[in-house]
Amino acid sequence: MAWRSHGRTNADLVRNLETSENRIFTSPRVREAMLAVDRGDFTKIDPYQDSPQGIGCRATISAPHMHAAALEALSETIGNAVKSGQECRVLDVGSGSGYLTACLAVMAGPTSKVVGIEHIGQLVNDSLANLKKHHSDMLASGRLQIIEGDGRVGYPQLAPYDAIHVGAASPQMPTDLISQLKIGGRMVVPVGVAEQRFLQVDRINETDIATKTLMDVIYVPLTDKAAQMCR
Ligand code: SAH
Repeated sequence: MAWRSHGRTNADLVRNLETSENRIFTSPRVREAMLAVDRGDFTKIDPYQDSPQGIGCRATISAPHMHAAALEALSETIGNAVKSGQECRVLDVGSGSGYLTACLAVMAGPTSKVVGIEHIGQLVNDSLANLKKHHSDMLASGRLQIIEGDGRVGYPQLAPYDAIHVGAASPQMPTDLISQLKIGGRMVVPVGVAEQRFLQVDRINETDIATKTLMDVIYVPLTDKAAQMCR
């Protein structure tokens, strides 16, 4: 799915994603969010190329096409929540560099609460420094927060969520996270160990969910701190 892009700016990156043969996204909300967040603030290594990059602590900033696909899958749910006029709530599990958390916060707009949860303290600090380059307003207002903690249990303090993104592969269906989805809410999550699938999970009612496989993927595992640092 990735392509060899020689884009030199963030706008080139977004254009390449939108116009690539695979049509990674079509929603104007995705375009607006990705144009508003400069990937160059979150990695210095070829930021406008479609590839993941190391961010330290055995973590990566995911490839732009994966971020675009995740935003595309969540755009309608977030758009509906915004239109309803209620506070839109979004959780980003394994927020890493903070890039996608910022995109989600732009997409969810001023009446939202967007929380990134990341278990490595160093990455939390680095992501806050990244976000302060151009998005200190969202941090200052409290509508964007980065929390240090174990994302496998979600963040019940702000549940239920309209949208949940999981940026690391859960070995099995993440039931705690599913229980924090609003009725009508949607989660995207890579599930699996050796073979991983990027799943879309919709909460239909109190007891039922609908799942759809979007694609095969390779993500770092959603795990405990000790396991991540000794991989
Ligand atoms: N979406 C982010 C990071 C992707 S890498 C980005 O693109 O920048 C996956 C991230 O999940 C890593 O930062 C890793 O530290 C984090 N992670 C793994 N297990 C976790 C857990 N149990 N709780 C919180 N974060 C976790």
